[in-house]
Amino acid sequence: ASLVADTTTTAVCGYCSTGCGLRLHVLDGEAVGLTPETNYPVNLGMACPKGWEALRVLESDDRARVPKVRRADGQMDSVSWDDALNLFTDRFKAIQAEHGNDSVAFLSTGQIPSEEMAFLGALAKFGMNIKHGDGNTRQCMATAVAAYKESFGFDAPPFTYDDFEQSDCLVFIGANPCIGHPILWERVLRNKNNPEIIVIDPRRTETAMSATEHLQLSPKSDLALLYSITHCLIEGGFVDQTFVEAHTDGFEALRSHVSRFDAETVAASSGISAEQIRRVAAKIGKGDAVSLWWTMGVNQSYEGTRTAQAIINIALITGNIGRPGTGANSITGQCNAMGSRLWSNTTNLFGHHKFENADDRSKVAEALQISVDTIPTEGSWSYDQIMEGIRAGEIKGLWIIATNPAHSWSNQEDARELLDQLDFLVVQDMYDSTETAHHADLILPAAAWGEKEGTFINSERRYGLLKKVRKAPGEALADFQIFRAIAHYWGVGEMFKQWTHPEAVFRIMQRASAGSPCDITGITGYEQIDRSGGVQWPWSAADAENCGDVDPPVQRRLFSDGEFCHPNGKARLIVDEITPPPEAPDAEYPTMLLTGRGTVSQWHTQTRTSKSPVLRKLYPNHSYIEIHPDDATTIGVANGDRVRVTSRRGSILVDAMITPTIRTGQAFMPMHYATTNQLTLSHFDPHSRQPSYKNSAVRIEKA
Ligand code: SF4
Repeated sequence: ASLVADTTTTAVCGYCSTGCGLRLHVLDGEAVGLTPETNYPVNLGMACPKGWEALRVLESDDRARVPKVRRADGQMDSVSWDDALNLFTDRFKAIQAEHGNDSVAFLSTGQIPSEEMAFLGALAKFGMNIKHGDGNTRQCMATAVAAYKESFGFDAPPFTYDDFEQSDCLVFIGANPCIGHPILWERVLRNKNNPEIIVIDPRRTETAMSATEHLQLSPKSDLALLYSITHCLIEGGFVDQTFVEAHTDGFEALRSHVSRFDAETVAASSGISAEQIRRVAAKIGKGDAVSLWWTMGVNQSYEGTRTAQAIINIALITGNIGRPGTGANSITGQCNAMGSRLWSNTTNLFGHHKFENADDRSKVAEALQISVDTIPTEGSWSYDQIMEGIRAGEIKGLWIIATNPAHSWSNQEDARELLDQLDFLVVQDMYDSTETAHHADLILPAAAWGEKEGTFINSERRYGLLKKVRKAPGEALADFQIFRAIAHYWGVGEMFKQWTHPEAVFRIMQRASAGSPCDITGITGYEQIDRSGGVQWPWSAADAENCGDVDPPVQRRLFSDGEFCHPNGKARLIVDEITPPPEAPDAEYPTMLLTGRGTVSQWHTQTRTSKSPVLRKLYPNHSYIEIHPDDATTIGVANGDRVRVTSRRGSILVDAMITPTIRTGQAFMPMHYATTNQLTLSHFDPHSRQPSYKNSAVRIEKA
């Protein structure tokens, strides 16, 4: 049959937080191909291999097609949706009746649309009386959220992607956009200012290879290094005193604190020469438009929140915020991590309100037209606390939606044992073959990106639209429809009678956002989001009226007026003591293991990307570990040799990749392989509760 499309439509990509626009080529209502959208302000006609292969991974044989229930002998039986939803309701209600409402919890995702997140959070918290629920965004963005909230008064990434092209000095800390955000790196390459590119990273990553300055620091010496750069900026007279006095609190405490981090002292601990520290500080200080960007190297750390705030401090004291090419900018990970931050109703109340605040509860109750008494007065346990709740026997039932903790959670064997301790585990996913699905008592088959509608919010706060261009396989349903059905079977369908389709929920979200820093009451609807290349928040009704009710500007950044979200309108400069690493290398485990993204072609736990033959060809199908040549000589291994890697949590066999991009005494493994997290440590930032994935001591031996 001919696959020549009879029409095209657009949708945003469903992998990463870049939020590229794709043009879908449609024949008889079904997408048969795609190309990058040339007229979308994010990607300007580009897409990475994952985006190009987005349709292919929908066609895999292991798509979940029907609900399945585990028998006593461990095998799975296919059942009807009616049986599955009755079982879901009966088992979770029975657990709540016996052990209390808080004995059932949920774990969600940054991969489903905002409207589905909103539905899940509202259904679980207000309809099913579940208090504890968290998202896999705890593993990627929680640190940035905690840092922004404390520093700015709201979780408000201030930038727009145009800043990559407007800066004359870009600083990347713990970020490898060449691999992690390749289209954003393309935006850097379009920068016509001949910019300084400063990379702070213990690995010589692809991004570091393109840098004008690479500070290849010792692992987790980043906070001391950033304090030292701050000290040099102050000593060098690079502080924007006018901005600091008008728009920040805490400068004198900052000055006093960082004075202890002179370049010579920090050079000894970080492995960066005092001369380079001073030179980099001067480059930042002399820049007209300096932007600082961070991702998981900062966020996935035991002191990530304070490190992120040290980055924010540098932007604030040099006045690099609110202007083109500036900002302290956390690049989000998943396609809708920001939707989860605003709408998942887990640790924050619906729309980034506070469960503890009575006015916020009343506002949300009114927006949702529900009784305020249904809203809990405190937020949820975080992800790690839910896992510990299972260990303590306090959590007996768990509902996991579109995430794969049996692969992705730290100290993996322990995590799998905890999943097996549950009385009842429900996994709702587009595939029934994930590592987590192997532990499920009930699997609910879900439609995927391309098979449903809604909005994603990308890293620059842009609401983008996804569309249904494929029919889901078998009896799989959109998560939205699954939540509607569960509301009915649970007996709370009346509470959600207005939640009929995604755009109806978007209207409810708009009502709940009114008057907040993420106000979206000015968006006229999905049609405007689609037509205008997405809409960045905030876009309030007043914004719309002030601009004459025309479409919002294509690019907007926050804090251009110097007004932050704390009650006095000022940002806070926050400093803290350096804390020792939770697990330092020693004689038994002499190597520091770093983990991270390994390739542009794979995504997270490879649940989707491993289903594409093209993407598989772009990356080795076997796990490997990067080792420095000197360490390889000491261990006695050559490139490609099998090695055993052992930590206090587990022991795995992988191939050796000998490379000078990693320093001696360190090793690197991509997170995409199922065995990596058998080694990682369960330790968490105390402010964000984000896992510290990049800080595990291991021993490497020839196998
Ligand atoms: Fe999709 Fe991200 Fe690739 Fe863009 S960069 S095509 S959003 S995965």
